[in-house]
Amino acid sequence: MGCHVVDHPLVRAKLSVLRDATTSSRDFRSALHELSLLVGYEALRDLEEESITVETPLCNCPGARIRDPIFLMPILRAGLGMAQALTCLLPDAPVGHIGMFRDEKTLEPQAYFLRVPPGVERANVVCVDPMLATGNSAVAAIDQLKQCGARKLRLVCLVGCPQGVARMREAHPDVPVFLAAIDDGLNERGYILPGLGDAGDRYYGT
Ligand code: URA
Repeated sequence: MGCHVVDHPLVRAKLSVLRDATTSSRDFRSALHELSLLVGYEALRDLEEESITVETPLCNCPGARIRDPIFLMPILRAGLGMAQALTCLLPDAPVGHIGMFRDEKTLEPQAYFLRVPPGVERANVVCVDPMLATGNSAVAAIDQLKQCGARKLRLVCLVGCPQGVARMREAHPDVPVFLAAIDDGLNERGYILPGLGDAGDRYYGT
């Protein structure tokens, strides 16, 4: 399973826009959407397909469709922007929500909301959160999804760090993680360095 960093010039360029402290909220949103599409596209590379026959205006030809439904599960708040972007690729995907905030003292996640669309047992569940920092929220979110019956899970983030990646690997070795970059580490407040600051604040302009 493991951790996959998407190696592409467009990913590096768009991530640099996100990192830049002078990027406006409007440009931050656009870059976050575009980067989510690039990383999300890679994260869906191994989706199971079914063979179909397509009738073109001229003749029949072999085609394919995705076998099982895809559910998007953003971790609130910053994951919402990623989920919104991915609905461009996946317009039929149901979107659930995982409400999680970080206790700023302990850095432990506090769950406050969970809505999982029905049929999660069969679905390809794509959990999205831009920042994989301590990994505590991601691990707690995946714990909750597994408790609801999800089996085919992926975690799609934009910026991670060694601590978050290790925490996910230890707690959920069966869940692949996709990222645009793995940064150096965390500061004492649990922010990723060099990172991009608070993804939710920058996305929502708060
Ligand atoms: N959440 C953020 O928004 N930024 C970080 O650097 C870490 C967690």
